[in-house]
Parts: sequence; C-alpha cells; structure tokens
Amino acid sequence: MAELFYDDAADLSIIQNRKVAVLGYGSQGHAHALSLRDSGVDVRVGLPEGSKSRARAEEQGLRVVTAAEAAAEADVIMVLVPDPIQADVYNESIAPHLKDGDALFFGHGFNIRFGFIKPPAGVDVCMVAPKGPGHLVRRQFEEGRGVPCIAAVEQDATGKAFELALSYAKGIGGTRAGVIKTTFTEETETDLFGEQAVLCGGASALVKAGFDTLVEAGYQPEIAYFECLHELKLIVDLMYEGGLEKMRWSISETAEWGDYVTGPRIVTDETRAEMKKVLAEIQDGSFAKSWMAEYKAGLPKYNEYKKADAESTLETTGRKLRKLMSWMDEEA
Ligand code: NDP
Ligand code: MG
Ligand code: MG
Repeated sequence: MAELFYDDAADLSIIQNRKVAVLGYGSQGHAHALSLRDSGVDVRVGLPEGSKSRARAEEQGLRVVTAAEAAAEADVIMVLVPDPIQADVYNESIAPHLKDGDALFFGHGFNIRFGFIKPPAGVDVCMVAPKGPGHLVRRQFEEGRGVPCIAAVEQDATGKAFELALSYAKGIGGTRAGVIKTTFTEETETDLFGEQAVLCGGASALVKAGFDTLVEAGYQPEIAYFECLHELKLIVDLMYEGGLEKMRWSISETAEWGDYVTGPRIVTDETRAEMKKVLAEIQDGSFAKSWMAEYKAGLPKYNEYKKADAESTLETTGRKLRKLMSWMDEEA
C-alpha cells in the first residue's frame, strides 16, 4: 500500500527557514515560485538574461536573478527548466555553487534516473512532482485546494531530506490533496510510460486512427472530429470522477456492450506486447538516449512529426470547429 501524507504530516516551517531558488518560470516554475512565496517562503527565480519568462516573473512580484546567482544564494535549488537542458544548467550554473547540506530538487526524475546529472554526496536530492500541469497547480493553490504530488528522495545526505520534501510540497499545496512517497526510478519510468503509451502517445494515436477510419469511409470530417476527439473529454471527465464504473453508468447500454466487446479488439495482445517493449526501452535507458540525441541534433524528426500533424485533416477540421465554439478558450 502506498504511503500517503497530508497537511498534518508536513511542517511548513522547515522550508520557510531555507532559501529557495526556483530555476525556470514555465508551467511548473511559475506555480512553485508563486505558491511558495504565498506560503511565506524566501524565493528567488533563476532565469537567463533575455529569457522570455523574465518579464512575467517580475510582473508577478518575484525577484529574478540568473540561475547561477540563484543557486549561489539559495540552499534549496528546484530545477524546473526543460529536462533535456537540465544537465547543461546543472554543470554551468548549479554544481559550482553546491555546498554540503544544500538540497537539489526536481519535478521529474529523468536526469537523475538516467545519470545525466550526478550530484555530490553531501547534498540532499529530492523530488516533488505535482501530478498535474503547472497552471492547474497554481489555480488549485489559489482556491485553497491542491494537486496531488509525489515525493522522493534519491540521496539523503542530511538524514532529513524527506521532511524537507514534504515541507516543500506543503508550500505548493500538495499535502492538501495528498503526497505519495515514491522513488526517482518509479516516478521516471511510470511517467514516461504513461505519457507515451496511454496519455499522449496512446490517446492521440487512437483518436487519429478512429478519425481517419471514418473519413476514409466517406463520413464528414466534422462528424468524425466530434465523435473521435471532442467527445473524448466528456468520457474522460466521467472516468476521472468515478472510474470506468461511472463512465459506464452514464453511457447507453449499447455503448457499454460495444466497450466490452470491441475495446479488446483495438488494444490487442499485440498492443500489450508492444507496451512491454516500450517499457523495456524506457527501463534500459535507450529511450532517454535517443531523445537526448534528437534534442542535441536540433529536433529534426520532432519538427517533422509536429508539422505533419498540424497539417492533418483532423487538426484543420478541429481548428475550424473550435473557432465556432466561443466558450472553448475560457475552459482551457
Ligand atoms: P517549461 O518548458 O514550461 O518551462 C521552462 C522554463 O525554463 C522557462 O521559463 C524557460 O524560460 C526556462 N529556461 C530555459 N532555459 C533556462 C536556463 N538555461 N536557465 C534557467 N531557466 C531556463 O517547463 P515545464 O514547467 O513543463 O517543465 C519543468 C520540469 O517540470 C521538467 O522537469 C518537467 O518534466 C517537470 N514537470 C512538468 C509538468 C508540467 O506540467 N509541464 C508536470 C510535472 C513535471 P524561457 O521563457 O526563456 O523559455
Ligand atoms: Mg512527463
Ligand atoms: Mg456516440
């Protein structure tokens, strides 16, 4: 059974008595920096000179310095820059300023798990990863709620690293919703697998294949779009609220019967075998290696895939239809 921690298990004063640097001010960075500040924590944001994010952080009342200055001032350094550049930022701006007793924090275990960053022995290495996008993390905090987080300690130099991680999680509202204890290995491998096989890769491939099947059979793209993409949100909302059970309670008996008999014809034994291969490539580091190589080469394939999807009938149809639904922007 997973170990869960709530507000009463976390002592906010621990993080209030430290100096925190939040490096990066994107999706996660802005949420962490603002909510820690609102929780009475001494925060500075580290960003390069000329970074697009600088003006926004300053407008929101935060003190912004370079990543190196932030790391030098602080004794808790949260790394929230994009994963593929974390090792460069670490080598250039963090490592020279690390002292024994400092803590290095991450929002995802990628660089530690695959050995791109190797912190010195005297430093606590922790993770606090909200299980939701950064903008929701901030909004929930402001509403007095929180997004569940997972927390892990890779290296416990002080013997108090987990208390520190829980205190940090409390500062961003995580312990209001619950914090689950994990390891860097479990978080990294399950996160990569989930986004590739189910949430992003699996879901978009399923939507694309369903849409293409209908359009190739001569049905109107607009009908196919609503059926295969738009309605997915309504179904997922029900799953989120009450599992498969609640979704099946709401749909028709005909849809439920189709769910039971057709689902396994779509996700077949072959698909499940492929999922195992995907997981093995994550575990043995070959996915991480190929992704870093693609990034360092300037993202040639990434941009090719992005362009092809942007020009697809699915996306052009969706863009046109969403424009006619004026309330859609507000929901985002
Ligand atoms: P974003 O891409 O949204 O933001 C990255 C930020 O880093 C930007 O503010 C960018 O500034 C800044 N940056 C770029 N280069 C540097 C540098 N050299 N020094 C300092 N800052 C720099 O990142 P995310 O918030 O999505 O991801 C951050 C981490 O959080 C990752 O480890 C990710 O895996 C993890 N995570 C993300 C989630 C999410 O919701 N997105 C969910 C859970 C974990 P600029 O404006 O100049 O580009
Ligand atoms: Mg991820
Ligand atoms: Mg239907």
